[in-house]
Amino acid sequence: MSQVRISAKDLGVLALPNFCPRCFWIRMRCAGKLPFQIFPGIFSSIDSYTKKVTNLHFDRYSRLPSWLEELVELGKPVKVPHYSKFCVFDEETDVLLRGTPDEILQKDDGSHIVVDYKTAKFTKAQDSLLPLYEVQLNAYAYLGERQGFNPVSGLALVYMEPQTDLTLDQLDTLVKEEGFLMAFDGHVLEVSLQADKVIPPLLKEVRRIHDLESPPLSNEGCRDCQLLEGLIATATISS
Ligand code: SF4
Repeated sequence: MSQVRISAKDLGVLALPNFCPRCFWIRMRCAGKLPFQIFPGIFSSIDSYTKKVTNLHFDRYSRLPSWLEELVELGKPVKVPHYSKFCVFDEETDVLLRGTPDEILQKDDGSHIVVDYKTAKFTKAQDSLLPLYEVQLNAYAYLGERQGFNPVSGLALVYMEPQTDLTLDQLDTLVKEEGFLMAFDGHVLEVSLQADKVIPPLLKEVRRIHDLESPPLSNEGCRDCQLLEGLIATATISS
């Protein structure tokens, strides 16, 4: 049995309603290096900027910014380890789970809240990726509990919502010589903590799909696979 490595985020894919085992199998067999996967880096830059704001705010005022105080009034940010250290090896499945959350806040009772930042419009339950994020956060809690952040007492997504309305009054404050500023509003969405219940069965499922000798069937009606099949059929006819 060869070891499988999976990130908390990729594990979350299994929870999506339109999850496709075939895509997952292909992705694992390609070690995640799929073609046509270009992601803009701007979102991780904003997440990292958000983290800097939180930490600098705490350094200066000894308290969290107000949008995080609704989550934990008396809390402090603690150093989050690099993902290469924030990992757990599951002996039963030979799967290495890893990943690192954007933020870990320690409450005054010593417990921890795991936070992930999302740069997006805030919608309480309409985010189609919410099932993925719920697993991702629970995976971080699973790792945290085993990596010295015990106990984890809460999970939260913090949406940083870009403020795209602009009035004439704001113009002079926001426009600078070299460009312009854009404001973000923070919104907290707490996520149910059930790491020990949710994560082990998903690790088993990762192993099961990974070990299939050939790719499982395509999701019925998936447009991408239909396009590919059409392309292959055309190429076969022309040759
Ligand atoms: S059915 Fe869709 S999701 Fe599944 S492998 Fe094909 S393209 Fe990917």
